Amino acid sequence: MVEIDIREALKEEGKVYTFHYEGIPDLGEDISFARPLVLDAEYSALDRKVSVKGAFGTVLNTVCDRCLDDMKTEISYRFDELFFRVGTQEEEEYTYEGDVLSLDKMVYDAIILSLPHQLLCKDDCKGICPVCGQNLNDGPCGCKPEDTDETNPFAKLKGLF
Ligand SMILES: [Zn+2]
Ligand SMILES: [Zn+2]
Repeated sequence: MVEIDIREALKEEGKVYTFHYEGIPDLGEDISFARPLVLDAEYSALDRKVSVKGAFGTVLNTVCDRCLDDMKTEISYRFDELFFRVGTQEEEEYTYEGDVLSLDKMVYDAIILSLPHQLLCKDDCKGICPVCGQNLNDGPCGCKPEDTDETNPFAKLKGLF
């Protein structure tokens, strides 16, 4: 959990506080951290809203879309968000409850947003052979291109990318 204790900020409205986090938050199964998340922010409260701005960076364990090999993806993100007290505003994206403001949802959204549309282990990743499934970055497999068979599961898989 990436959580800010905002007790002081709520008492001293308008005053700017700083927050630092370094660790591996549990953001669900779809996000696997290869390095700790490092986040720095400034925050201040005003009228039951808390403004939080700053940046975070981390490295994720991901999978290449083309060859399905494990890879790492670096993420760095700047944010500037308003958090509303639960119940004061309908339909707002980010809220806080009591004295605790959790950044988990925002960090999760930011990570999903900043992941590239296509993840490639390298720009010229050769992918996998549609016939035998070998990772072609490891070398040619010896299949002939005409061996491609539509019933082969790897052929279907390749069509998705
Ligand atoms: Zn690859
Ligand atoms: Zn092959």
